[in-house]
Amino acid sequence: MVLTMVRVVRIYVSEALSRSGLPDIDYALNPYVGCAHSCIYCYAREYTRDKEVAENWGKIVKVKENIVKVLGKEVRRKRRGIVGLSTITDPYQPIERDFHLSRKCLELLLKCGFPVSIQTKSDLVLKDIDVLSRYVDLVDVGITITTLEDSISSIIEPHAPSPSRRATALRELADHGIQTWLFFGPIIPGFNSDLETIRELVALAKDTNSEFYYDKLRIKRFMYEEDNEILREVLRNIRGFKWNELFEKIKEICKRHGVICKPAFPSITKNQKLDSYLS
Ligand code: SF4
Repeated sequence: MVLTMVRVVRIYVSEALSRSGLPDIDYALNPYVGCAHSCIYCYAREYTRDKEVAENWGKIVKVKENIVKVLGKEVRRKRRGIVGLSTITDPYQPIERDFHLSRKCLELLLKCGFPVSIQTKSDLVLKDIDVLSRYVDLVDVGITITTLEDSISSIIEPHAPSPSRRATALRELADHGIQTWLFFGPIIPGFNSDLETIRELVALAKDTNSEFYYDKLRIKRFMYEEDNEILREVLRNIRGFKWNELFEKIKEICKRHGVICKPAFPSITKNQKLDSYLS
């Protein structure tokens, strides 16, 4: 993982839980605006309303200083529902080590009976394993692993923890009886679309009794606009890629290993964009 300087800005918010259109999630909770993991394909920047953060993705992270207090009021008056932690930031990016907002929100939500579905690329989630273990019936944790090759991850997810650390986190969570899932996405032709990668990740899902979600790379405007040779290569590779053939292979490999496998966004059709899901 390459370390980089991130500017931290404290902000105040009037809302903690926002309605979410993502499958199986009622509310989105994002304790931070922006994400220091700086994945080159990150869609979240397109859904982040804060222009300053969106245009300087990975360089500025805003901390919702009062989110726990606001959430405390909301859990008393809002209908209980599943909370996605988080949808347009990584709740366990490095700044969480200093502010613990994800932990505090998690504790509060679980104490009040709100189920929480966590998605992260970081083994920092293990710091909250004490809380997670107390509420195994109310939580699930998804770890995104796009490849098990550190060299590929360091190109496409330069500041996120290595895939081996993420795999270890998945194992540890599962060993503590926490319901886990592995998110294999985005699939990027020429980077992680090979069958060997898929077989290794499905084997990891099997070992940890995790469900396996997959999703293809979705092309976004910024990918054409950025002066980034890797993105140019990605865009070249994606032309004419036979997605359906790959998806059939994924399903076949999962079936052979007895792993439950699902497309991450099952009802997205050609006419319905991912945008309608994200809050
Ligand atoms: S971890 Fe998620 S939110 Fe953060 S940069 Fe990567 S894709 Fe975006």
